Amino acid sequence: MYSFFKNKKILITAGPTREYLDPVRYITNESSGKMGFAIAESLHQSGVEIRMVCGPVNLKTALPENKISSVITGNEMLFECQKYFTESEIVIFCAAVADYRPMEMANQKIKKDDSKLSIEFIKNPDIAFEFGKIKRPDQISIGFALETQNQIENAKSKMIKKNFDMIVLNSPNKNEGFGYDTNRITLISKNGTIHEIPLKTKKELANDIIHFASKI
Ligand code: C5P
Repeated sequence: MYSFFKNKKILITAGPTREYLDPVRYITNESSGKMGFAIAESLHQSGVEIRMVCGPVNLKTALPENKISSVITGNEMLFECQKYFTESEIVIFCAAVADYRPMEMANQKIKKDDSKLSIEFIKNPDIAFEFGKIKRPDQISIGFALETQNQIENAKSKMIKKNFDMIVLNSPNKNEGFGYDTNRITLISKNGTIHEIPLKTKKELANDIIHFASKI
């Protein structure tokens, strides 16, 4: 299955992003980056050329440092990915980019004054959507979706909206998804193939995802 990836350049996003309110406070999410790193490590071990763009994660990895671009915010992640979009044959969007960021970041630590504090948020760039708009026919993209209702339907429409060739549907249950070493996923291709996979380690799932992608 790795022969499909051989001699192709793969870009992978992973982890959360941080969106700062002031120099010492930010909003983020529970993403650990484990799934993205498991895919990147599996491909790298098989000799595939990868570029990892990841938000702040706390993981031990066998990947060489020169394969990893570390970023903090969603805007930085987009900027870094844009350097690799053209040359990449396959792009795998595992990152949990914050949907919104504070409209302004205060220069100084925000003081507590009143009993209420209102902060205005603005939409962050959608990196996968941006790539979907400029994607060439020879490029493949893979996305992730975490859905709680109408899961397959919602994942399918996300795949269409972001021009993915396949999407990995995650569940938010215990032992599954964010932060855990295990997950239960459903793989959906743009051709309509649906493959449900029971609870497994993210390392095992990385190989299932790679295998499924090599067949689309
Ligand atoms: O819209 P939603 O966040 O559910 O989409 C998830 C998919 O889109 C994931 O593959 C994720 O990496 C990607 N995404 C992105 N940039 C964003 C939001 C999501 O690349 N700002």
